[in-house]
Amino acid sequence: MTAARSPHRHLLGIASLGREEIEALLEAADGFVELNRRSDKKLALLRGLTQINLFFESSTRTRTSFELAGKRLGADVVNMSVGVSAIKKGETLIDTAMTLNAMHPDILVVRHHDSGAVALLARHVRCAVINAGDGTHEHPTQALLDALTIRRRRGRIAGLLVAICGDIAHSRVARSNILLLTRLGARVRLVAPPTLLPAGMDRQYGVETFHDMRAGLEGADIVMMLRLQSERMQGSFVPSLREYFHFFGLTWEKLAAARPDALIMHPGPMNRGVEIDGVVADDIDRSAILDQVEMGVAVRMACLDFLTRDLRAAAA
Ligand code: ASP
Repeated sequence: MTAARSPHRHLLGIASLGREEIEALLEAADGFVELNRRSDKKLALLRGLTQINLFFESSTRTRTSFELAGKRLGADVVNMSVGVSAIKKGETLIDTAMTLNAMHPDILVVRHHDSGAVALLARHVRCAVINAGDGTHEHPTQALLDALTIRRRRGRIAGLLVAICGDIAHSRVARSNILLLTRLGARVRLVAPPTLLPAGMDRQYGVETFHDMRAGLEGADIVMMLRLQSERMQGSFVPSLREYFHFFGLTWEKLAAARPDALIMHPGPMNRGVEIDGVVADDIDRSAILDQVEMGVAVRMACLDFLTRDLRAAAA
């Protein structure tokens, strides 16, 4: 978390989080999982604070879970839909930031289609900003919820072999996960066709790279599949969806190369029959995909809690 040029702390990416901060967030999130399973889920931690969810790109899971997280902690939560906002009329990102800033929010949760846009916006507001996904750059709360899912299902992260497969090139989820998992001591493999795996990632991030699913999945503890992000592609990166599924879609047959108890993950939304076979995704023993959704609410509660602690202490 950073405090760059703002009296408030932001969560802009995993890159700025230390191992201890990640572990403290996961620990706190673990506690919120239990709260979320009770019938009375409401706390008053953020009472009086205003949270604005500003989404320039559509989202189901992330926006809903940030909304639930804020409400369960007692904040007033406003969802700003870009479709009905001034951005469509040509307002710049900075103007939007300054307009919202004038309404005195305490937390801004921002998703934007451009890498770096959330950090730029954070420099123009006087509240905590959480990056809910910026272009192909980072999606820190997704990596945190993935880590919490792995930790709860496997009891640890250090020493596990995690294969991240599919459209690495366009995936902020991949980038945040690579940073977090390597920081917590996991071994990471990237498995993708050459067109979807930028050259040099092995050296840049200290990971192994593969262009063949069976070789990449060999002995993996965790198999994390990624969505083919066609909305970020200009031109064609795969010959056809059928061929992509044939070589890179997760099927029982390809999964047989991984450990017999390997956990299957996907950040959603899933393209069934493109990057993953529906029957594999739906296997309740092997797939952790719905656990990831559940952990998402808890992790976002932990982030909201951590980022507002100084503010709440000052008000007390
Ligand atoms: N929901 C994730 C994201 O916003 C993954 C995806 O869209 O494929 O990056």
